[in-house]
Amino acid sequence: MSTLPYASPVPLAVEGDVFRDGALLVVRHGTVLPASCILCNAPAEGKQPVRLVFTWDPSFRITGETTLQLRQTVVVHAHLCAGHLRTWRSGRVLGLGGILAGVLLMMASGAVAGWSELSAVPRYTAAGIVGMMAAFLVVTVSMFWLAFKTRTVACRRIEGGYAHLEHAHRAFVERFNVLPL
Ligand SMILES: [Zn+2]
Repeated sequence: MSTLPYASPVPLAVEGDVFRDGALLVVRHGTVLPASCILCNAPAEGKQPVRLVFTWDPSFRITGETTLQLRQTVVVHAHLCAGHLRTWRSGRVLGLGGILAGVLLMMASGAVAGWSELSAVPRYTAAGIVGMMAAFLVVTVSMFWLAFKTRTVACRRIEGGYAHLEHAHRAFVERFNVLPL
């Protein structure tokens, strides 16, 4: 586990890596969560955990400190059940694939439009422009697809190297000890 400068010293570290705070899951940077689906608590033994990266920036609320000092990132390895893993993976594959296809279509359409403009009769200029607009739409839809399908838990805040996560399944959260004050 890598140690981030802002994550040390971690007073909670001697007590554990995962806690609960009401419905929130409080997880230390670098933790591999138990093999149950974080979204529905179904067994997820034998499945590779997914790497979730959370970034939180409280600088808009606190004045007098730079964004660089306050920006914090926590990486958590969480398990998903077969169904949630399928949704997450299809979101990644189709979302990233769609973005790539859209960018390629945009470049190809731009090249066609440019080449058409340089030729004696610019008969493909309109087609190239329509292609670029379609490509822009494909990229936009793919980004929404990626964000929607790969949505798991959300980070409420990060403190002392621990991420406070919401939307984890209640039964999953309740197996952990209450966050010590
Ligand atoms: Zn699940």
